[in-house]
Amino acid sequence: MVAAHRQDRPWSGGTVTHLEATGPDYVADCYLCPGNLRVSGQRNLDYTSTFVFENDMPCVSLEAPQELPMPIGIYRNRPSLGIARVVCYSPQHNLTLAQLDVSKVEELLSVWQQQYRDLGSRDEIKHVLIFENKGEAVGVSNPHPHCQIYATNFVFKTIETEARVSQTHLAKTGRILFQDILAAEQEDGRRIICENESAIAFIPYFARYAYEVFVAPKQTRPSLAALTDTERRDFAAVLRQILIKFDNLWEIPFPYVMPLHQAPTDGNDYSGFHFHIEFHPPLRRPNLLKYLAGPEVGGGNFLSDTSPEEKAAELRAASDVHFRK
Ligand SMILES: [Zn+2]
Ligand SMILES: [Zn+2]
Repeated sequence: MVAAHRQDRPWSGGTVTHLEATGPDYVADCYLCPGNLRVSGQRNLDYTSTFVFENDMPCVSLEAPQELPMPIGIYRNRPSLGIARVVCYSPQHNLTLAQLDVSKVEELLSVWQQQYRDLGSRDEIKHVLIFENKGEAVGVSNPHPHCQIYATNFVFKTIETEARVSQTHLAKTGRILFQDILAAEQEDGRRIICENESAIAFIPYFARYAYEVFVAPKQTRPSLAALTDTERRDFAAVLRQILIKFDNLWEIPFPYVMPLHQAPTDGNDYSGFHFHIEFHPPLRRPNLLKYLAGPEVGGGNFLSDTSPEEKAAELRAASDVHFRK
């Protein structure tokens, strides 16, 4: 539901402050900085680019209990097993993804490709969810730029739905669903933010959050790992452009949840699945959080006070040079 006429209504809701990533390069008690000791007692390598390690307090583990008590009545359960990892983007404590050079973003994409391949090839792993939570607004307490990986013995719900409808659409029409979305976005044009030869960024017609941006390759690839080297370079450029525009909007480190939506790795046919990155930014205006309330939590539909066309125009107009530079 779009109710753009309501955006100027009086507002006295919650505001957020921003953990400024302008601190020092290195913080002695940061568990992500190079050479530091983590809660597990393990010491980080003196890493110089990206750094991947097993999460010390994993939400999913291969050691999780396999024998579960049978629930009573209609309920069913099964063990959720997996591998949880952390990826530090750079040794520098104060350098966000938006501030990395394009070559470093490309390097990170290679790491993500490798992680998807390595973890996805394991029999017990059915899906690899890579995501970054950024900012206090989404509950992140450590500003050292990093993302997380949950490789699990089940497929997360949204991915399962996307995979199912993609295959149904392919079977019904012979077409790729995401290609139909891209065609509609390109024909309309108002919600496209930036693009190059093989990658594109846009706010979809069906966006729920004010600044919900999708970044995707133009050719259908089921995962990031299936991108060619040229496509990876183009993708890195568009991804970086979006991150910079986000920060430049209000000259703050822009908070978001950023999941990579990639095909499951359970061996089924996902030829209709089109890899993309989604941004779910919680802010509607500077310091103003979008609360999920009655319509969203209570009813299951998103109510937006802004139109995606207007928000895409704002992002198009934002500079491509990071404000800190
Ligand atoms: Zn740090
Ligand atoms: Zn998606």
